[in-house]
Amino acid sequence: MGYKVGFKDADRIFGQLQDEYEIWAPKRFVGKGRYSDTDLIKYAQVASAEEIEYKEKSDFPAKEVLSPITQSLFYFTEDEFIESKAGSKKLLIFMRPCDIHAQHYQEKIYLQNGGFEDMYYKRMNERVKIVMMECQEGWDTCFCVSMGTNKAEDYSMAVLFGEDGLSFQVKDESFAPYFEGMEDDDFTPAFVEENELKVTVPEIPDKEILTKLKDHPMWRQYDKRCISCGACTVACSTCTCFTTTDIIYNENANVGERKRTSASCQVKDFTDMAGGMSFRNRAGDRMRYKVLHKFHDYKARFKDYHMCVGCGRCIDRCPEYISIVATVNKMADAIEEIKAGENGQERG
Ligand code: SF4
Ligand code: SF4
Repeated sequence: MGYKVGFKDADRIFGQLQDEYEIWAPKRFVGKGRYSDTDLIKYAQVASAEEIEYKEKSDFPAKEVLSPITQSLFYFTEDEFIESKAGSKKLLIFMRPCDIHAQHYQEKIYLQNGGFEDMYYKRMNERVKIVMMECQEGWDTCFCVSMGTNKAEDYSMAVLFGEDGLSFQVKDESFAPYFEGMEDDDFTPAFVEENELKVTVPEIPDKEILTKLKDHPMWRQYDKRCISCGACTVACSTCTCFTTTDIIYNENANVGERKRTSASCQVKDFTDMAGGMSFRNRAGDRMRYKVLHKFHDYKARFKDYHMCVGCGRCIDRCPEYISIVATVNKMADAIEEIKAGENGQERG
C-alpha cells in the first residue's frame, strides 16, 4: 500500500501516532555544529514531518535512540537496587538503510553474544518500528554499496520526502488506519546503486598473515596522525563499547545510581586495568584494533557480515581527516606485501 500525504496531513498523522509512539528522526540543531556557524544533525524526538532533516546525512546515527550516550541502569541503597524504568510508548524511528543494517549488527552484540542478553538494550529494541528514509544519491563519504548495506527490506514503512509532501509505502498493516482517506500512490523506495567512494575489503586468509598484519609498519603512521579523540567511534553506527560509573548521592557511599556511558577504543585509557596495566598504548595499535574489529573480527565471530556499514560518519567527524576507506585500502596492500613475503617484521 502506498500513499501521498501533504505536510498538513502528515502532521495530523504524526499527532495521532504520538498517542502510541515516540517518533524519533534526524533533526537539525541550528548553530550547534562543531565549527562556528555550522549546524548539528542528530536524532531527536519530533512532533511534525517538517522537523525531520531529510536532505542531509545526520552527523550521529540512529543507535543513539536505542543505546543513549549515557543512561541510568539502576539505583541502589545498602542492600537492594531498583532498575531504571523504560518508557511505556513504542519507538517509531526514521532510519536510512545503512542504519537499519547497523541496528541488526548491534542486536548481535547486545543480544546474541556469548549467550548473554543486555536487558537494557532488549527492552528498547522490542519497542522499535522502523520507517526507512529513501536515500536518493548518498553523500561523498558513503560506501554502503561496497558494504552491502545500501538496500533494506526490514521496515514497517518507507518514506520519500518531496517539496510538496511525503510518499509512504506501508508494509505493516497496523499503520494502514492512519492513512485512511489519503491519496493512493504506488511508491516503492529506490536504493542507491553506486557510491563515489568504494572499498574492497581484503580477506585475511589465515592466522599467520593476521599476526604479521598486526605487526605491520602501516599502523605506526597513526601514532602521530590520530589524536585519540574518539570522535570516530561516537559517530559510528555500529560501535557499542561502554563504561559504567557509580554516582554516589551524598556522604553515604551505599546510596546512588549506576550509569553507563559510551566509551571509545580509540581513547588512550580505554584498556587501563587495575594494578596499572594497560594495553594498546600507541594510537596506531588502537587504530589497528578498531579497523580489524570492523573488517575482520566481527565477521569471524558471527560468520555473516563485516561490522562496518559504510555510513562514512567516522570520515566526516575525524578532525585529522583519517579515512577508514583509505586505511582499509592500506591494509589490503599490506596483506599483499605479507603474502609476497616482503614484510613480516614491525619497523619504526
Ligand atoms: S566504521 Fe565508519 S563507516 Fe563504518 S559503520 Fe562505523 S562510522 Fe560508519
Ligand atoms: S576521530 Fe580521527 S583522530 Fe579522533 S580517534 Fe578517530 S581516527 Fe583518531
